[in-house]
Amino acid sequence: MPRITNLVKKLQARGLKVEYVKGWSTRGSSSFTPKGVTCHWTAGPRGTEGRPSLNVVTHGRPGLPGPLCNVYLDRRGVAVVVAAGRANHGGRGVWKSGSGNSDFFGIEAEAADGNDWTEAQREAYPKLCAGLLDAIDESNASWVCGHSEYALPKGRKIDINGYPMSSMRAQVQAIINGQKPAKPKPKPKPSRPEAKPAALVQSKKNPPNGSTTFPKDFEDLAINKKPDALTIGALQILLHATGRRDNQRWDGKLAGRTVADTMRMLRAQGYYKVTPFTAKGVRKGTPLKVDRKAGFWFYVELQRFLADALGKRGKKFYRGKIDGIFKDMSWESFELWINTQNGR
Ligand SMILES: [Zn+2]
Repeated sequence: MPRITNLVKKLQARGLKVEYVKGWSTRGSSSFTPKGVTCHWTAGPRGTEGRPSLNVVTHGRPGLPGPLCNVYLDRRGVAVVVAAGRANHGGRGVWKSGSGNSDFFGIEAEAADGNDWTEAQREAYPKLCAGLLDAIDESNASWVCGHSEYALPKGRKIDINGYPMSSMRAQVQAIINGQKPAKPKPKPKPSRPEAKPAALVQSKKNPPNGSTTFPKDFEDLAINKKPDALTIGALQILLHATGRRDNQRWDGKLAGRTVADTMRMLRAQGYYKVTPFTAKGVRKGTPLKVDRKAGFWFYVELQRFLADALGKRGKKFYRGKIDGIFKDMSWESFELWINTQNGR
């Protein structure tokens, strides 16, 4: 039997939000004759809102080639179709008359353990099982099993404890009995390409790459008086290390999220609270908002911070006017300040 390429349509018809990983329709072996669905969790990191396990379940890990599932369920309840062909997910085991990965679709839901389900996942998981059974014209929900129920020897696997399979099957059966699949929605979006793992240290050879994991450190910046990707990338590494969390990507861009984190960093140092003087029709002492906009007062406060902070031999970083015009000398002193934070 070929790969099951009606997956996207069938999942959408069950009302799921569906995305896919590029290449899904040809991923996984075509020797695939699914009769049922095996439910897993990823045992990934707790609490993150990203998709920390999507890369692994798509491409595999050392000793276990991918794909490791057919569909990945993120914490927001989005079904990401990974593979239309056979996936490496079950290992040895049996459920009803099915045994082996050729006989079962595999679902991997992002969860650390049995206490880590989101509401969105609880709602989506049975729909996802129903949609997969639709794809093979199976209407008996007894074909849905948990990995722990399937795996041999017994006790080899604990997923997906914490999501009782008897109630999962009851929900799936109710969905299949009660609802006609809706009409498919418009074209689904491709899943964002998986973030590359970040380099351990930012350098010219390892510039910001958009990863959701941040390097631990950065090489000293060349002082070029420019807010280039390495300057902003180093700022992002510093902000991340100090617990600022608005920005989730090491991308070297001074966009709103990074500006907001910088504003909070300044606040924690006693800056960016109220306007320090009257200018631009705004009175001295007017409260400043964390508004993600790198405007006049943001740069005024950054200049004041750099003018007060002491560098080598007690010298101040910025010795120019506090005028909110953040150009050559301002960026130079900012780069000098960043370099003194290196390795902390
Ligand atoms: Zn499993």
